[in-house]
Amino acid sequence: MITYARQFVDRADLKAIKSVLFSDWLTMGPNVEAFEEAIEGICGAKNFVVSSGTAALHCAYSSLDLKPGDEIITTPLTFIATQSTAMHFGAKIVFCDVEPSTGNIDSKIVESLITGNTKAISVVDFAGHPADLSSFREICDKYGLYLIEDASHSIGSRYKNKPVGTFADLTTFSFFPTKNFTTGEGGAVASIDDQLLSKAKVYGRQGLIRDADKFINSPEGRWHQEVHKIGLNYRLNDIQCALGISQLKKIDKFKKIRSEIYNFYNENLNEISEIQLPSKADYADPMWHLYPLRVTAGIRNELFEILWSHDIRVQVNYIPVYFHPVFQDLGYKKGLCPVAEKFYSEEISLPLHVSLSRKDLRRIVGVIKQFFGN
Ligand SMILES: *Cc1c(COP(=O)(O)O)cnc(C)c1O
Repeated sequence: MITYARQFVDRADLKAIKSVLFSDWLTMGPNVEAFEEAIEGICGAKNFVVSSGTAALHCAYSSLDLKPGDEIITTPLTFIATQSTAMHFGAKIVFCDVEPSTGNIDSKIVESLITGNTKAISVVDFAGHPADLSSFREICDKYGLYLIEDASHSIGSRYKNKPVGTFADLTTFSFFPTKNFTTGEGGAVASIDDQLLSKAKVYGRQGLIRDADKFINSPEGRWHQEVHKIGLNYRLNDIQCALGISQLKKIDKFKKIRSEIYNFYNENLNEISEIQLPSKADYADPMWHLYPLRVTAGIRNELFEILWSHDIRVQVNYIPVYFHPVFQDLGYKKGLCPVAEKFYSEEISLPLHVSLSRKDLRRIVGVIKQFFGN
């Protein structure tokens, strides 16, 4: 069977994990900061690690002081965590349609959705291809909004030759096994703003403040610590951080292999007229997380079944978020974002991961070509 996504773990990763297990610190130890420094090396911004990409988004939104009625403008072509974590603070989700080319939230329509209640625009770098970040940065600056970037797909990607992580007020990453590299479960929040970052971090560390400059009460001893606002425990442990450090040493290799697979599919599928290959904007140097192919709607479902019957696992990314019953219950209606809905009806994500062999890839394109009679 050819899996659709898979982690790549080697002996060096195993060795890194083992050394932590016999050390003094299983959590809150030296690997945490070392991993954060390694992440800064990739994303170009200060950051802190957390236990998942969802936790990262939850911490990021916590720093915006959201109150019920505040609006977040975001894309429907994503995993529900982009929205659910803001909804936990009472925010109202406003869906903006996507570009027909990349499937990323469309900077040309976003302005028409801004109201007096808008607090932030949350973009998602679909498939690893960065959203049009400088346009969003400009719009957010013009209206005094926060720019949040759910970069769960795009750690290692670059926009106008600068790394994803250096544009948004808060950028979030996921290290789930299907993503660009893994810590089993895990994530991080990066920020270009020290104050926002520290607020988000305190939230993910139980709200605990240990910095004497910030104390409200006078300390009664060395044990003194304070909670000013409640938070949660979203720590990532040293075992996971050691795995992350070891994985990050391979990130350039991962990016190269992913891009070779992307090119292989492009070269071998470009002559099929019913197929639309993924688009890449000039400003983007993606670390490809998905290979989002598009085929005419009815045929997509048939192709999906054919591939599965050949033991080739594929996926559809994403069911528009507001199709979920939880949003239907809130009154969101189908038809809200027609471009995203069309994109969804045509999309099929082909296998894309570091362990795919040339033989696997030839088998995949062989089945697709045969299906289309090429
Ligand atoms: C994976 C993912 C998340 C959630 O990350 P977890 O680590 O699974 O919690 C959020 N948003 C997007 C776009 C994702 O792909």
